[in-house]
Amino acid sequence: MSHCSVHRLLEKRENGEQSKKDQETQKVLEEKNQQPAWMKKEIERKDHEITRTKIELQTTLSVLEKASDREVGNQLRLGQTERIVSQKERTIEEQKRIIQKQVILIHKLKDEKQLLSDQRLCKICCSEEIRVFPIPCGHLTSCRNCASNTHECPVCRKRIEKLESAFLP
Ligand SMILES: [Zn+2]
Ligand SMILES: [Zn+2]
Repeated sequence: MSHCSVHRLLEKRENGEQSKKDQETQKVLEEKNQQPAWMKKEIERKDHEITRTKIELQTTLSVLEKASDREVGNQLRLGQTERIVSQKERTIEEQKRIIQKQVILIHKLKDEKQLLSDQRLCKICCSEEIRVFPIPCGHLTSCRNCASNTHECPVCRKRIEKLESAFLP
């Protein structure tokens, strides 16, 4: 056996041993990598749970965002409504003041109307309208009946010579 062939033999053996070692290492690594079935299942289950939780969180988040948007919208609408209400309140107050003024005016007109109709009444009997005036003084004071029963004007005491018909508007 030449020196060369011995060397080659040694090399060959070493190579063999090396590859055997490699195979063993590989096997250990594979065993390590090979998780037991229950562990795999457990991991898959956890993965599943995480995914589900993520989806749930996203759903909750989107629900919250929508609720928040709605809340902002509600606040805006509330503000608008409050403005409209206070505007309407102001308008109502203004209308109340106008109505009060009109009521006062109506009372005044009623009083004036009463006064006018009172002025048309006979100053003696206070029930009939003035229909005549005496000549010569001309004071509008009595109805025809009351004037016929007196000989002097109830205002100036002048003697009534004649009665003339009066036509009040
Ligand atoms: Zn009269
Ligand atoms: Zn008179």
